[in-house]
Amino acid sequence: MPTFSHTPPQRGTDFALTLVRVPAGPGRKGIITSTNLVGCYTHWWGGRTQPCEDANCSACKEGMPRRWHAYLAAWTPSPAFHYLLELTRNSIESLLEYHAAQGTLRGCWYEARRAGPARNSRLRLTCRPADLNGLALPREPNTIACLAIIWSLPSTAIVIADAKSNPQEMEIDNAAAFAGALGVARVVVRDVDREALAIRC
Ligand SMILES: [Zn+2]
Repeated sequence: MPTFSHTPPQRGTDFALTLVRVPAGPGRKGIITSTNLVGCYTHWWGGRTQPCEDANCSACKEGMPRRWHAYLAAWTPSPAFHYLLELTRNSIESLLEYHAAQGTLRGCWYEARRAGPARNSRLRLTCRPADLNGLALPREPNTIACLAIIWSLPSTAIVIADAKSNPQEMEIDNAAAFAGALGVARVVVRDVDREALAIRC
């Protein structure tokens, strides 16, 4: 059952960060708070960006083109703004190199600009270690959970499986398809309330 209440939550208490793209002109810069990026194919479908769901994807069946985007969380200290950044496949080479060299993107300063005046002009990104003197980076958000909320996917129980995955976590039958849609290796769903969890794939 959902939890009903007569009073709304305070602003800013939703789990999802705002999803932002890099505008033309001034571009965007900040400090990355994610340890790594996560990416998936998306469609412009039904008037909004939605993740491609591979084998069961309605947009694919309609012949809609899909594009791969990378997502990561970044932060600017003043004014304080923690957000989810969408990047194109062609713009992330320097981030891939940085991650290979440093083992993390967290604490990486980036600057991204459009090569032309259009909002979809080619994106260019440079990065280097940030000067974190006197700065307290916000805690790393769960990028996939944020995307799941933004895209109205089942979110509360999604985690990325990794080598340290919690043995209490339970794999589900269609997790592979869901993982494919999110562009991660594996997704597991927690058996939170000992109830069967439905997952849309
Ligand atoms: Zn698709």
